[in-house]
Amino acid sequence: MCATCGCSGRARLRLVRDGEVAGDLAERHGHDHEFHHEHDYEPVTGAWEGEGEEEERPHDHARHRTVLLQQKVLAKNDAIAANNRAWLRDRGVLAVNLMSSPGAGKTTLLERTAGDLAGDPRISVIEGDQETALDASRISATGVSVVQINTGVGCHLDAAMVERALYTLDPLPGSVVMIENVGNLVCPALFDLGETARIVLASVTEGADKPVKYPHMFRRADLVLVTKADLLPYVDFDVARHAADVKRLSPDARMIQVSATTGEGMADWYSWLRLSLPVRG
Ligand code: MG
Repeated sequence: MCATCGCSGRARLRLVRDGEVAGDLAERHGHDHEFHHEHDYEPVTGAWEGEGEEEERPHDHARHRTVLLQQKVLAKNDAIAANNRAWLRDRGVLAVNLMSSPGAGKTTLLERTAGDLAGDPRISVIEGDQETALDASRISATGVSVVQINTGVGCHLDAAMVERALYTLDPLPGSVVMIENVGNLVCPALFDLGETARIVLASVTEGADKPVKYPHMFRRADLVLVTKADLLPYVDFDVARHAADVKRLSPDARMIQVSATTGEGMADWYSWLRLSLPVRG
């Protein structure tokens, strides 16, 4: 169980080819680092510090146990994420974690990106959604390899899920793995996946207040893509205020305004991707 954000359950992984779901992925072992099982965390049992030494304080005990479980879940996730990061680095693969609220345009951006890049660099995609393979089908129709992860009641991807998906995708050196996280501006910010870079999408239709409302998501962003820029004339979105708030939270983050519909800013996005690729040689 993931007590950190309250979600629980097992993820389901499916390989999607040419817009069709090719079937569930059986659990396989043999990765060149230890293979882990997602959300398979040990429950905290037994005594905790101070138990039995003082008068009964059930609320303190419950809170303490919750904190210990949260630390344990995140520590285990971080360890797997570190393995993922080392594995990607050794392979010379760039992995980016795309996070946003639902409907900010992650899948549309990936569809356009896959089509425009046309294999240079080669990309593969890990799709995270609670249910369905709808997004994976859309993206795989562009010809790229996609693994769909359905998290069930889970509200974010974790490092163990990504580890399994990486093993299946087997990305080539010099390629990019795009990880589309579950649409959510809260919990995905907590879970390191082992990605090389964190990208937050903020659509102009959501309003400019998201950085101040969800600061944790923006605080560790390497790149913020302001999406659906073609709709700016029709919505009340204060570009300058949004940019200033992002800058305050994440001073080093790059910001690019894009539209996957008109193509605005897409060349800058592709340049960022190419410049972020590991140096080969
Ligand atoms: Mg999507």
